[in-house]
Amino acid sequence: MSSIANGMNELDKSQLDNLKKLCVSEKIIAKMRQAGASFNSNDNISEWLEPQDVILLKQELEHKMKSVFDSLLIDHNNDPNTKNTAKRITDMFFDELFKGRYQQLPKTTDFPNSRCLNEIYTLGPITIRSMCSHHFLPITGEVWIGVVPGDTVVGISKFNRIVDWVMSRPQIQEEAAIMIADTLDQLIKPKGLAIVIRAEHSCMTIRGVKDRGTSMTNSIMRGEFLTDTLKKSEFFDLIRSQGF
Ligand SMILES: [Zn+2]
Repeated sequence: MSSIANGMNELDKSQLDNLKKLCVSEKIIAKMRQAGASFNSNDNISEWLEPQDVILLKQELEHKMKSVFDSLLIDHNNDPNTKNTAKRITDMFFDELFKGRYQQLPKTTDFPNSRCLNEIYTLGPITIRSMCSHHFLPITGEVWIGVVPGDTVVGISKFNRIVDWVMSRPQIQEEAAIMIADTLDQLIKPKGLAIVIRAEHSCMTIRGVKDRGTSMTNSIMRGEFLTDTLKKSEFFDLIRSQGF
C-alpha cells in the first residue's frame, strides 16, 4: 500500500492530468446515472457526450485494453503482431463497430408525400453487420423493410444509414428490429411498416454448438401490415423477389 501511495506521490502534474482523463468514463456514467438515463449496450448515448469525450474515452480504453492483454499473458509490448492491437481494437469499437452508440442519428431530409403515394414499397436486402451483446461476436445478415407511406417520405439511401446506425452497437437481434422500427416510425410516420431481419450469429457458428448455416429470422409488422393480411402477404411476396 505504502509503495503504491509513494508511487502516486511521485506522479508529476502531466501524469496526474492523464490519470484524470483516463477516468472520463466514470464522469459520464455518473452524469447518466444521476439523470436516470439508460446506457445499455444497444443504447445511443450521444446526447451525454461532450465534443472531446470520445478522444478521451479512446485513450482510456486503449490503456485498459492493454491490461486485458496483460491478463491474457500476451506480450503486446514486444510481440510485433499485437503491438498496436489495443489501439486498433479501440478505434474499431468507437469508429466502426459501435459507432451507433456514440454518434447521433444521421441527418435525413424528408419530403412531403405530395402525390399521396399509398403503394407498398420494399427495400432489401440491406446488409447488416453487428455484434451480439452476449459474446461480442459478429452478427451478419440482411434486413428487408416495407413501407406504406404516410405524409412524409425520405430518400431510400436513408434506410441503409438508419439500419447501419442501429446495428453498429452490441445488439440483440429482436431489440434491433424494434429499434429500427421505432426510428423509422418517428421519422416518416408511415401508415404501415414491416421489418424482417435474417442473420447468422457467430456465437452459434464458431463456438458453443458450432452449427454452421443456422440463421435467425424475426419480423415486426406495424399499422396496415398488422391489420391488413393482404398487404402483409404482398410484402412477403415482394421481398421474396428481393432474395428473402
Ligand atoms: Zn451471442
